[in-house]
Amino acid sequence: MSRFMSSRFDGLEAYVPGEQPQDMQYVKLNTNESPFPPSPAVLEAVNREETGRLNLYPDPEGKALRGRLAETYGVRPENVFLANGSDELLFFAFMAFCDQSRPAAFPNISYGFYPVYARLLGLPYTEIPLREGFVLNPKDYCGLGKTIFIANPNAPTGRAISVDSIEEIVRTNPDHVVLIDEAYIDFGGQSCLPLIKKYDNLLVCQTFSKFRSLAGGRLGFALASPGLIADLEKIKYSTNSYNINRLTMAAAIATLDSSEYYVENSRKIQANRAYTTEKLAELGFETLPSVTNFIFTRCPAVDGGTLYRELKARGVLVRHWDKAEISDWCRVTIGTREQMDIFLDRVREILKEVG
Ligand code: PMP
Repeated sequence: MSRFMSSRFDGLEAYVPGEQPQDMQYVKLNTNESPFPPSPAVLEAVNREETGRLNLYPDPEGKALRGRLAETYGVRPENVFLANGSDELLFFAFMAFCDQSRPAAFPNISYGFYPVYARLLGLPYTEIPLREGFVLNPKDYCGLGKTIFIANPNAPTGRAISVDSIEEIVRTNPDHVVLIDEAYIDFGGQSCLPLIKKYDNLLVCQTFSKFRSLAGGRLGFALASPGLIADLEKIKYSTNSYNINRLTMAAAIATLDSSEYYVENSRKIQANRAYTTEKLAELGFETLPSVTNFIFTRCPAVDGGTLYRELKARGVLVRHWDKAEISDWCRVTIGTREQMDIFLDRVREILKEVG
């Protein structure tokens, strides 16, 4: 830190993103991207013509894309907010809906950005422990009287709670926003989106980064009552009114036009998830049930840190955290069948040598 930086950030520990090696030397199973490229329609949409318009600012309202999203989800454009990745959306939500009298609350094991945003903004927050087996007990959130952030399905565990449980949490916190982060909803989970018509305090966040193969385009979106969307707009127009670039908007519209391609990819990921889980079980691994494009797994013979390092040394990247409660575990993104076979072969080698 230089001597010029504000001392209010002295205690801030920035979020550490997963490794993004640029040389393509690794089988990359560490940041939950899709292994499949964007659809052919997306490649066509991001063309010379659209690139040639980069001298002009994009539509700050993102009207065309919001309209297509509204159509896709059976809501109105006033129910849709666009952000530069759901990370930006989460940041805006912490800014808009939390303060000293509206502290934030989220599970102790969840997406690592939640506590970082709370600390960056100087907000009070509570981390609510998950129960045995990393299970979220909805009762811990009912009538809490705080702004609640829940990733459903959760990351890095892959576990989900039911829509009924979410409704119970939203219903019993009528004076606080409940944000449900559905980054991984399209790999077998059930979205709570229909509830936005019934509850004005529910904010559903999704992303184009996983199921829609557009992590590099940076696009997240929220679906909620018009009041909450207007609040987010206020923060956006006070921060960065052109937050979505032209090429990403064109790519996203083409993505929504190719839904069959993405549904088919999700089906493949789900099949590879079942395959990988089964093969790991044969090797003595314990894997949590997952409805996402990743699995959370551990092996009694090798601790999580060793497994991560040994895999990396053999060209396979997975994610590991030093945090005590989860240091035995690794999170493994589900890729193509070929990628998962390489991963499994490397695991077998490691078990022979280290285990
Ligand atoms: N929420 C969760 C639970 C995530 O795991 C991620 C991805 N790291 C995000 C939000 C952010 O995704 P993005 O900014 O790429 O939309």
